[in-house]
Amino acid sequence: MAVLDGPILTHGPQGKQFEADFAACAGKIGHAVATSSCMAALHLSYLALGIGAGDEVLVPSMTHVATVHAVEWVGARPVFVDCDAATGNVTAQALEAAITSRTRAISIVHFIGIPCDMTAVMELAERHRLKVIEDCALALGARWRGTHVGLFGDTGCFSFYPVKHITTAEGGMLLTQYAELATQIGLLRAFGVDRSHGERSMPGYYDVVTLGLNYRMSELQAALGCSQLRRFDENLRRRHDNWRALRKSLESGGQLRVLQPQSSDAESSCYCLVAVLPDWLAARRNEVVVRLKEAGVGTSIYYPQPVPEMTYYRDKYNTPPTAYQQAQRLSSSSIALPVGWHLDLEDVRYVGDTLNQIVEEMKP
Ligand SMILES: *Cc1c(COP(=O)(O)O)cnc(C)c1O
Repeated sequence: MAVLDGPILTHGPQGKQFEADFAACAGKIGHAVATSSCMAALHLSYLALGIGAGDEVLVPSMTHVATVHAVEWVGARPVFVDCDAATGNVTAQALEAAITSRTRAISIVHFIGIPCDMTAVMELAERHRLKVIEDCALALGARWRGTHVGLFGDTGCFSFYPVKHITTAEGGMLLTQYAELATQIGLLRAFGVDRSHGERSMPGYYDVVTLGLNYRMSELQAALGCSQLRRFDENLRRRHDNWRALRKSLESGGQLRVLQPQSSDAESSCYCLVAVLPDWLAARRNEVVVRLKEAGVGTSIYYPQPVPEMTYYRDKYNTPPTAYQQAQRLSSSSIALPVGWHLDLEDVRYVGDTLNQIVEEMKP
């Protein structure tokens, strides 16, 4: 309400505050740049890093299409990499096998908030002199060896779309350990204009120093972001509690496999809990989803198809399915269950009991 009552509706003090709060929340070494979405932050990353036509970027097959669209929009070629069955993440081995003389960058996605092994990824990137762009849209609160994700690569991109950990209705944040890159991306975000209204000594005067876009976040969104961040610790704690309780319940049923970190170095952001159905039940996944819905349990699927199978990418690249077999398996045999802070432990018990019972009833 204070923003609505005030004189500045975009690109002002709330935005600066949100950037400062966000950077502080992630850790000391980061510079944050607020954007209109995670997709915008990803697009700005590739632009600022000078990746374009003739370049190849390694991308996970198992991700939101925004991860790959950002690569397409700068004219580079996405090269799809399969995921690991235990975490849904790409591995350094799979990435290395896809490197060619044209590879310029690696796109890392922390699948449903489970952090990738960033020690192995950064070692690989340094050895091959590759840029690293982290898509952290579902990974706010995820850490690898105590460092927040998004602070390993050149940039980390976050989303505040309504279903993410925190929301500004629409919005995103770019995090980087490199101050100069943050400054450059701040320019690209706002037309390439060299000074904002507050910084103009002569009203109306400014210069344009680079070819930019309008990917700004409004003051209204930034104010929401500041208040959402204040509740984030409590939000994350509940997600962890809910996730642990649900995993325990499902594992006690003895039929379902739960995606989870495979290393004690990885601290997940517990975006949701992905349960993988046993082979005998996998073909009837959609029936399980319908039964859960009838019982009042909301679910989702991450992701309905691996990106190389989506029509646009299939028509353009026709990647052979053998290149993303694990992604295909995960996409067709898993269910994402809720663990958000809108649930308490009793809700979680209901979700676990309901799914265990459905699986039991469907046994041949
Ligand atoms: C939601 C999501 C995005 C896109 O975020 P927007 O803010 O809607 O652009 C990108 N990547 C992943 C992994 C996501 O989950």
